[in-house]
Amino acid sequence: MALINENFLKLKAGYLFPEIARRVKVFTDGNPEAAKRLIRCGIGDVTEALPEAVRYAMHEAVDEMGDRKSFKGYGPEQGYDFLRNAIADNDFNARGIEVDADEIFISDGSKCDTGNILDIFGRGNKIAITDPVYPVYVDTNVMIGNTGDADENGAYAGLTYLKCNPSNGFVPEIPTERVDIAYLCYPNNPTGAVATRTQLEAWVAYALKNDTILLYDSAYEAFIRDPELPHSIFEIPGARDCAIEFRSFSKNGGFTGVRCAFVVIPKSLKGKTASGETQAIHPLWSRRHSTKFNGASYIVQKGAEALYSPEGKSQTRALIEHYMGNAALLVQACKDAGLAVYGGENAPYVWVQCPAGVTSWQMFDKMLNEANVVITPGSGFGSAGEGYFRISAFNSRANVEEVCRRIGALA
Ligand SMILES: *Cc1c(COP(=O)(O)O)cnc(C)c1O
Repeated sequence: MALINENFLKLKAGYLFPEIARRVKVFTDGNPEAAKRLIRCGIGDVTEALPEAVRYAMHEAVDEMGDRKSFKGYGPEQGYDFLRNAIADNDFNARGIEVDADEIFISDGSKCDTGNILDIFGRGNKIAITDPVYPVYVDTNVMIGNTGDADENGAYAGLTYLKCNPSNGFVPEIPTERVDIAYLCYPNNPTGAVATRTQLEAWVAYALKNDTILLYDSAYEAFIRDPELPHSIFEIPGARDCAIEFRSFSKNGGFTGVRCAFVVIPKSLKGKTASGETQAIHPLWSRRHSTKFNGASYIVQKGAEALYSPEGKSQTRALIEHYMGNAALLVQACKDAGLAVYGGENAPYVWVQCPAGVTSWQMFDKMLNEANVVITPGSGFGSAGEGYFRISAFNSRANVEEVCRRIGALA
């Protein structure tokens, strides 16, 4: 019989979203009338239609594919130049950030990228993650063998957990020990927190001093409204020598179902071999990407490019305005209900403290049974998330207004 990768057996069996689905099903089966009122603010998925500029561009691309003269087969594994150039120009160079088009690798999603990146790193690295955290960073490290077993709180041996709480504004303090790799995600899922320039400067200084690589997930950068906040880790001097950035079109362009994202790996970023020689990271990812990936679809990349057209930009802005308008309503409704609220100002997530003595899952049940609203229990994102819950602003305005009314009626 074939041996299996036993690291998979260490995984906590996909606890959070299946458990939410189970409790929702129990509720809807038992309360068919109330089930009709159910509003889901749980999963972080966009709800509004794909921007028109994207649809036009994709229609056109489909027609190109329908003519043998303009038909496209395999594209470049790293992505088409038209998209890599649009990204370099608009997301980086226009903001005064040095990123070359050939440092950008187009993919079909940041979830895959943040997991796959571990292919190019050796075993035995000391890995830091925040708590609470986007569970993908943890589970992919478990799968590849970078951890021991989980304890009763779900914390894995071998990982360094950086606690995030109101006293540090949900941005972890700089670790006192050295780590090889640290995952940072700002604006943050699930807390909606943002990292200031000063905080990121401190992280870059730490990384340069300790030869740490920062894996910076900025999937939500488009939701930043405060002009003082950095959108990219590469706005921080020195980051080109210590950071990789992950970006996605999922949340800004509504691409969760279309699938397109990218990784930025500066050519100056280095790791080392066991014998101590330095090695550039960029060629390793390039080799990995061209061996295990055959490029994102031409049609999808044409759609993504359209997000950078003047129409695409204004339609994206409108989408973000819509979701952030929702977030503002949710923040206000929670405040009015006397709850302590975080996030929601530069991120589409509102992170709410449960009333004293109420656990995350008790709050989940209360919201489900009394308000018929599905939220996400904070404890599902890590033990430091206990006592909090996340409300997603990805919804229609009518649903959000109704959720706000029901939060008001809860008290
Ligand atoms: C939604 C999300 C992404 C984007 O994932 P895709 O695979 O590109 O859809 C990345 N990181 C975080 C933290 C997210 O919440």
